[in-house]
Amino acid sequence: MAYLTTTASGQPVLVLKEGTTRNRGREAQRNNIMAARVIGEVLRTTLGPRGMDKMLIDSLGDITITNDGAAILNEIEVEHPAAKMMVEIAKTQDDMVGDGTTTAVVLAGELLKKAEELLDQNIHPTIIVSGYRKAAQKAMETINNIAIEVDIDDRATLKKVAVTSMASKAVGPAKDHLADIAIDAVRKVAEKRGDKWVADIDNVQVTKKTGKSLFESQLIQGLVIDKEVVHTGMPKNVERAKIALIDSALEIEKTEISAEIRIRDPNQMKAFLDQENKMLQEMVEKIKASGANVVFCQKGIDDMAQHFLAKEGIMAARRVKQSDMEKLARATGGRIVSNLTDLRAQDLGVAGLVEERKLGEDKMIFVEKCKDPRSVAIIIRAGLERMVDEAERAMTDALSVVSDVIENNKIVAGGGAVEVEVAKELRNYATDVGGREQLAIESFADAIEIIPKTLAENAGLEPIDILVELRASHGKPDGQYKGVNLFTGKVENMRDKGVVEPVIVKEQAIKSATESATMIIRIDDVIASTKPKE
Ligand code: ADP
Ligand code: MG
Repeated sequence: MAYLTTTASGQPVLVLKEGTTRNRGREAQRNNIMAARVIGEVLRTTLGPRGMDKMLIDSLGDITITNDGAAILNEIEVEHPAAKMMVEIAKTQDDMVGDGTTTAVVLAGELLKKAEELLDQNIHPTIIVSGYRKAAQKAMETINNIAIEVDIDDRATLKKVAVTSMASKAVGPAKDHLADIAIDAVRKVAEKRGDKWVADIDNVQVTKKTGKSLFESQLIQGLVIDKEVVHTGMPKNVERAKIALIDSALEIEKTEISAEIRIRDPNQMKAFLDQENKMLQEMVEKIKASGANVVFCQKGIDDMAQHFLAKEGIMAARRVKQSDMEKLARATGGRIVSNLTDLRAQDLGVAGLVEERKLGEDKMIFVEKCKDPRSVAIIIRAGLERMVDEAERAMTDALSVVSDVIENNKIVAGGGAVEVEVAKELRNYATDVGGREQLAIESFADAIEIIPKTLAENAGLEPIDILVELRASHGKPDGQYKGVNLFTGKVENMRDKGVVEPVIVKEQAIKSATESATMIIRIDDVIASTKPKE
């Protein structure tokens, strides 16, 4: 239907294109809120260590079994724009802090549910939005007030944070081992800039290979390159390796324009080829002269150059990914060189051992025993492919939370403890604010309690009973640490039980949930153009 309006003189004016659909007012709000809430509901049952898993089957029939919020939303294809915004929350959460995706999405869903109730009581969206924003601000203050500072050398606490993040992953008794690897890895790549610690986990390479067990997963002080040694005549292992990192081709450059070279007699042909070989030999000589015994080349290596390198006893790999080249530089302390003429001994990287080894079915090159690697590798092993995948997700979560705590050394108690404390503070604050906003702030308080409620529900506990007990315990001494321990089913001091999480995971979850929920609430008109006909 085309949208028409009329001028004062009654002339029809076409405003929107034919085929445009429009949906406004309460109906638009209701639709958006419903679509977004569906996403929250989908993830709800997966929250926490006793959450259920989802089996996802993609269009090619590949199966993933997980309860990782980000992974689930990655796989399902969402159509509705408001639902897509919920998917965005998970992505943002994952990119910013690496954990707490389910929490963020479930919270956003609940904020919307409560907002709908307020809309039904004729509270204007603008009031809801401003109330929610004030509540989120207050929640941040509360979290920071109850946060516990962590010394980054306090390995025991880092380990608790890592293990808590893996609680909901199906990696069972290997959690301790994986947590240790995660801590070692992050500590290796962490660096102090000014008076701040930066731990960029992009410098931790995670490689997974089916076979063996989770307990054989290990940290490599260096890197694993998914390439084979390029020539059979080359050594397969080099100790005390001096590594040249080259990002240009070890080939004779072919001209862009296809030139025709007319060769009339065989001697000329030979001279031509000799000339090429000589150039390649010179390249290899330059490498040799630098003292290198291993070459990683980002581009190709000519057959003849391979032959010359092999003759010199130099190991080489070609077409190494650019990201791996950068990691190699960080791990070995080498410098990536484009022009061979510039290659000096001080540009070479150093590793105790470079070795081609078989990992599962494939050959890979291990660059290890690096002295002070700024980039490290983790190899995840497990008997089943699905287990390796789940362990990789667990590892990324553990790496994320450890780096979160190293960068921002504050933690809070989990198991709903922080959420119940925030709700309590918000209810006090709401009465100070008063007016209609008070209702929105109280709704926010109710909404955030969805976290302990859901944790309890997923563990088969009675959510209302648990919530009542939690509320009663907060406000008493150490109340801010009281959460529901899902392994005992009781309300306990979660700090003492070692269920702790980074402050920034909680902050980010509240921030992104509030942002998306308020964005969705404020929409009262959805105008959609139809797709052009093909
Ligand atoms: P998210 O994607 O939000 O990280 P998870 O499924 O990882 O979701 O669940 C995280 C929640 O589980 C947090 O609220 C955390 O405090 C809670 N949790 C972890 N371990 C326990 C435990 N032993 N008892 C109670 N709650 C726990
Ligand atoms: Mg988690």
